[in-house]
Amino acid sequence: MTLQLDQTHDPRATSWVPSAQRAGTDFPIQNLPLGVFRRPGSGESRIGVAIGDQVLDLARAMAIGALQLEPGYYDCVAAPRLNSLLGRGRRALQAVRSAVFALLREDSPLPRPSEDCLVASAAVELLLPVEIGDYTDFYASIHHATNVGKMLRPDQPLLPNYKWIPIGYHGRASSIVASGTPVQRPVGQIRPSPDAPPSVHATKAFDYECEVGLVVGKGSALGHPVPLGEAEDHLAALCLVNDWSARDIQAWEYQPLGPFLAKNFATSLSPWLVTLDALEPFRVPLADREPGDPAPLDYLAPGERGSRAGFAIELEVGITSLRMRSEGIAPMRLSRCSFDRMYWSPAQLVAHHTMNGCNLRPGDLLASGTVSGPDPGSQGCLLELTWRGSHPITLPTGEVRRFLEDGDEIVMRGTCSRDGYPRIGFGECRGVVLAASESA
Ligand code: MN
Repeated sequence: MTLQLDQTHDPRATSWVPSAQRAGTDFPIQNLPLGVFRRPGSGESRIGVAIGDQVLDLARAMAIGALQLEPGYYDCVAAPRLNSLLGRGRRALQAVRSAVFALLREDSPLPRPSEDCLVASAAVELLLPVEIGDYTDFYASIHHATNVGKMLRPDQPLLPNYKWIPIGYHGRASSIVASGTPVQRPVGQIRPSPDAPPSVHATKAFDYECEVGLVVGKGSALGHPVPLGEAEDHLAALCLVNDWSARDIQAWEYQPLGPFLAKNFATSLSPWLVTLDALEPFRVPLADREPGDPAPLDYLAPGERGSRAGFAIELEVGITSLRMRSEGIAPMRLSRCSFDRMYWSPAQLVAHHTMNGCNLRPGDLLASGTVSGPDPGSQGCLLELTWRGSHPITLPTGEVRRFLEDGDEIVMRGTCSRDGYPRIGFGECRGVVLAASESA
């Protein structure tokens, strides 16, 4: 699928929803991300599109004839999750985007939808947007891989396979939670010293990982690899992911099969799915490989497509402690990094994931791995930022952090900016750390 900038990307377009033009909004009319929400006091999950500080109820707007989509779309727009809509592929998502744009733009000739079609985002609960069947976590930032490697294997930080093969592991879908869900400090088997046997206690090295999630749209058939050139046909949208991690549990359990209980107790997902179409103006080349790095093997070789394989998403992680929040202190920024510094592109991750015939299903989640850059302050987790606790961070209250303490809240944000275009954003991915359960 090639570059399609259309009227929905027109930087001059505005909406009759006033907050869509408000400075700093993540959701101008050029964004139109998809999500699932619940009205207060209602048990019903509804599909919505964020516009300014409002949410447009798609099924309701369609039912009253305000949102003009072919009738065949109604069932998937009225579903409680986005899987069936995303599963119809990029063309269907473009049709929805065009129809929503036509309805919301300032000079729309369509009748304005009744008031009950729009609801304030602040008044609704944002839920997991998709039913996630399978979750894969990659390791696509060479800066993250190198830093972690330096701590574990100073003599050989980057393993020889890294520049040839996108490294990943299969994660756990059942414990993926919506942004805002508190996350309990996990208990696990930990061995602090090679001279003593392991013991069971709550993690003392609770960390976050700032990642970008790739949400699968159109599925792929078992036994049929997806060629790189078609990989993005199978990606519907991007979102933010916090891959909560317990470093001490991880250090003891990870060899030889990789992460397990150090990761699968919780993963947080941002509620709004920003479609690849909305991200089209923010495409960039992937960061250059270093001279001497091997060229990707044929099935991963981007060719001309490489000039647009990356996405310029600025990611920011903020923290507040319980005390900071009680004293009204704003979140402290821990890091800032751009997603365009990754070693492997989203398309390469899809092509690699399916090269052996492994199938993808609508709503599957592929996470990028921790997004870290080369510069100080651009590392997407505390393990790197504090160098395994040896360089603690001081919060504005004077409190010191090596890893997360109970009551700490992590807030991730992502934004895309480019001269001449309205800034679009991902909203936030938020989670507060709860104390370990009493039995620990
Ligand atoms: Mn991860």
